[in-house]
Amino acid sequence: MTDSPVDQNSATGAPTPRRKPKPKRTEIGGRPLKPSTLMMGHGYDPTLSEGSLKAPIFLTSTFAFPSAADGKRHFEGITGKRPGGAEGLVYSRFNGPNQEILEDRLAIWDGAEEALSFSSGMTAIAILMLAACKAGDVIVHSGPLYAASEGFVAKTMAKYGVTYVDFPAGASPEELDAVMVKAKAQAEAQGGEVPLIYLESPANPTNALVDVEAVKAARDKHFDPDRCPIAIDNTFLGPLWSRPLDHGADLVVYSLTKYVGGHSDLVAGSVSGRKRFIDAIRALRNTMGGIADPNTAWMLLRSLETVELRMQRAGENAEKVCAFLRDHPKVTGLGYLGHIDDPRQQDIYDRHCMGAGSTFSVFIKGGEAECFRFLDNLTIAKLAVSLGGTETLASHPASMTHLSVPDERKAALGITDSLVRISIGIEDPDDLIADFAQALEYV
Ligand code: PLP
Repeated sequence: MTDSPVDQNSATGAPTPRRKPKPKRTEIGGRPLKPSTLMMGHGYDPTLSEGSLKAPIFLTSTFAFPSAADGKRHFEGITGKRPGGAEGLVYSRFNGPNQEILEDRLAIWDGAEEALSFSSGMTAIAILMLAACKAGDVIVHSGPLYAASEGFVAKTMAKYGVTYVDFPAGASPEELDAVMVKAKAQAEAQGGEVPLIYLESPANPTNALVDVEAVKAARDKHFDPDRCPIAIDNTFLGPLWSRPLDHGADLVVYSLTKYVGGHSDLVAGSVSGRKRFIDAIRALRNTMGGIADPNTAWMLLRSLETVELRMQRAGENAEKVCAFLRDHPKVTGLGYLGHIDDPRQQDIYDRHCMGAGSTFSVFIKGGEAECFRFLDNLTIAKLAVSLGGTETLASHPASMTHLSVPDERKAALGITDSLVRISIGIEDPDDLIADFAQALEYV
């Protein structure tokens, strides 16, 4: 949270601190504090808010400047006239106390220099792409992506003269090398550059993993790392089970609607990572809007206090449920990161992931009709298209989230009519297994 209390009677115009905020403590005796500890107070000083233990929700559209000189200084930061960004609170399209505390805490999980909050995951992704690209440019991206992300690249960015080159999530270093060569040639032919490599790992809904280290090696060989960031959608495993910045990504994208929000009661997004790239995204967010609102930011602060507990419990539940489903005669396969068949995918998992998470696909014997019977007979799991909440959800991607994806692409990506996507919650695992067992009887 920006520390902005100042002496309003300053004769010089130079802002002087009125109440010194407590220093942010991120270590004790040289030992860094863990994110789960920092989520309880980092970035918030109760003495600045009447001692309120929890941050109040700041419902205001604008912030009063202590002096005209402060207003000028803040706008220099907002407009980029002075490097370093805003030093104080200005206007709620740019920043606000709840959002700044949230952004400080989000950055901690990924080991990022800075984070930005958005009104949805798709707002974060759209502003990231628009900030990176100009007409003639080429985005390199892994596939599959969340259907709306894929559509944004292929349809919306195309309207502004930006094309793409995509590659399958599990691509080898040799394949990645060829992809970069192709993208470079395509950009040169269009008079542009390759200003963004955009990944999603694990991919929605197949759970295919991208080798971020190999993408970084290929990027570093063909492009200037300071002009071609690697951004990755870490929604499925983050922030607990995967830290892509440690493997060479520059920016991490989240739909906070999922595990971070975790209660299926809000929609939000974020981008965190290297400051030089965050600055450009913030500048466009300042212009367009799209920052998370104060109430949602406050709810996310509540959620971050339990994200580790929730993700751990859901991960343990998923392991038990998948052990049951794997051997079931009505199940023909599982797309679960705890049971990987492919050696290359296992190698990526071992290098990049700290846990298998709790969203997976299950292939039901039969097609759409059998999947629908299974879904319609679940009693604990709800039939809904999100993931990462406290409750278990199940959906049929081919006819729901990925309905707009052309049939050939669905087939190539393994999004078949027999695939059901399940997001396991924090219910009792035996109750969940009993529910899946009885629903499979109807298949
Ligand atoms: N990324 C992934 C992997 C998703 O699953 C979703 C939504 O389902 C999004 C991004 C978009 O997020 P939002 O719905 O918060 O805009």
